[in-house]
Amino acid sequence: MAHLDYPPVDDYRIPGTNVFVISCIDLRLADNLLEFLHHDNLANRYDHFALAGAALSYHAGGVHYDLFHHHVLEHYDNFEHWKRSLDDHLQIAVDLHDIRDVYIVEHEDCGAYKEFLKDGKFTNWEAEISCHKKFATALAEDLHHKVYHEKKSGREQETYFLNVHCFIIDLRGNVKLLSSPPEQLL
Ligand SMILES: [Zn+2]
Repeated sequence: MAHLDYPPVDDYRIPGTNVFVISCIDLRLADNLLEFLHHDNLANRYDHFALAGAALSYHAGGVHYDLFHHHVLEHYDNFEHWKRSLDDHLQIAVDLHDIRDVYIVEHEDCGAYKEFLKDGKFTNWEAEISCHKKFATALAEDLHHKVYHEKKSGREQETYFLNVHCFIIDLRGNVKLLSSPPEQLL
């Protein structure tokens, strides 16, 4: 098997408990995503939520509104139901599976970026990475700041925040870290 580049082990903490994975629906990278998650020792330790564009649409009806084609926003009702579905499923996963970490996995050559954004067709890899990082870190900050409650029998609940790690995967399956705590948390 060809050698794949993954983020160095010192760049982020490998999660010790279960993980919620947010990816695009793109069919080309299903095997590459699986391989990366196994590399991070997460086999059968993650809930997988997939939606077109991964982090792209989460703030489409808000701070990122003007970056989108308006006919797309109209067609998808500002993506409000996409956002709600993600929020609801993350909450269910947290409640059922002791989720403490989220992986947002963006990818190269994403059709949703091309179709939804005014400037979603990229001329170079650096610009593409930079654009994905903007949307992924915006979602990461939002998800991190949701407050979750740890269930402790006989004692008061303790609150905690999710650690959200953002990655981008290229068409050969190489993975690059876009951001990870503590950078995004402060
Ligand atoms: Zn995609």
